[in-house]
Amino acid sequence: MKTLFKAKWILPKGNVVIENGGLLVENNLILDVLTSKGLETLELKDFQIKDYGNSIITPGFINLHTHLQYTEIGKKKSKKLGNRLKRLILKFKKLIIFKGKQKSFTSWIVDLIIEYLCWSAEERIESFKSGLNKILLSGTTCVAQLSAEEMYFEILNSSPIKSYIFFETYADSEKSAEENFIKLKEKYEKLNKKCLKSTYLGISPHSFYNAHKKLWEKISQYASQNNILIHAHFAESQEELDWIKTGVSEINKLHKFVGFNHLIPSETGLDPVSYLKTFDLAYKNVILAHINQLKDEEINELATLQTSIAHCPRSNLLLHKKTVDINKLIKLFPSSVGLGTDSLYSNYDLNIINEARNVFNSGVDLFTVLDMLTINSAKILGIEDFTGSLEKEKDADFLIFKLEENEDFNDFIKKEFPDHVFITGLQVVKDKKLVLDCS
Ligand SMILES: [Zn+2]
Repeated sequence: MKTLFKAKWILPKGNVVIENGGLLVENNLILDVLTSKGLETLELKDFQIKDYGNSIITPGFINLHTHLQYTEIGKKKSKKLGNRLKRLILKFKKLIIFKGKQKSFTSWIVDLIIEYLCWSAEERIESFKSGLNKILLSGTTCVAQLSAEEMYFEILNSSPIKSYIFFETYADSEKSAEENFIKLKEKYEKLNKKCLKSTYLGISPHSFYNAHKKLWEKISQYASQNNILIHAHFAESQEELDWIKTGVSEINKLHKFVGFNHLIPSETGLDPVSYLKTFDLAYKNVILAHINQLKDEEINELATLQTSIAHCPRSNLLLHKKTVDINKLIKLFPSSVGLGTDSLYSNYDLNIINEARNVFNSGVDLFTVLDMLTINSAKILGIEDFTGSLEKEKDADFLIFKLEENEDFNDFIKKEFPDHVFITGLQVVKDKKLVLDCS
């Protein structure tokens, strides 16, 4: 069945604006993107028309960095057993960390770990699904999700949303690096065979302070041989920078808390980018999230490595009161910066449009913002042949925003939510409500 979606405005890709055109969709694919002239000469007969009138159609948005499993952290009460366990762990935390201190990044991570540890598998899944529903409502049609756990794979693999699942891994010694790499490789190979068309797998050594150099290098070698993407947190907190420079910071307390006994920087005295360069990595396959603590000259240096960047401005500002100058970032990484919300534990919401508005309000032009939300992230994830723009033969992943009378295509950035969301031709959100169970 063919359907022609008509709207006053279509923003298919780049800075192209189509007025009074149409998007012709057959089942899951885009058959054509038509201008008003194209519509006049359209010879097809057997199609239905859905006319959205004074609206904009954009490609679906990509959230390049999140952890949906943490959506309900701090928002719901744990069950009885969880509460008892929590009290015990909190006592343990008090022994190690943060007496009378202002809440640090390390303390923030530890609280996250405690709460998550005390949840049952059902509670974790509930939290994950709540996050999944929230991102769909905000027009996310593809998500880069980071988690160590396997149990979220099936949910995403059977959902219409496109997902790039990065399996997180950690290690504090050469020995645990060897062991955890074997486990990770087994998990990757087992699940990679089960991936349906819209699911992709990558690997996430959590960060330099939580993954031993040996683990990083084993992953990088394996990833290069098998063309796998790597996604990690980098230069997010001052404590991380201090740890890299001297080997001593609050991060040591985090390590003590999680039972890491051996992890020290492989070299000291270095800034984060110089430290990163001592690792033998295929940098082009690496996505780095945050980088909000880097100085200008360090960002210049990082650009020479050709990594990609998941920019999470609102999370950075909330947790660290500091984010990267987006205009500088765009200049240095012209098509390899995408936007992420990070988890709801470090953000106000999981709405990628709010992230985009933050960038727009920093003076970035509308079409560059749209590229960051769509095609840039698709290219970073290597899935630009399927999604990221409205073009013939790509998947029909698109959003429809209704406009007020005095508004035009420039105004989608002001909207809180799209009115309708379609993923591979399936309508998942109608009038701002989920109409398809995607979880
Ligand atoms: Zn993260």
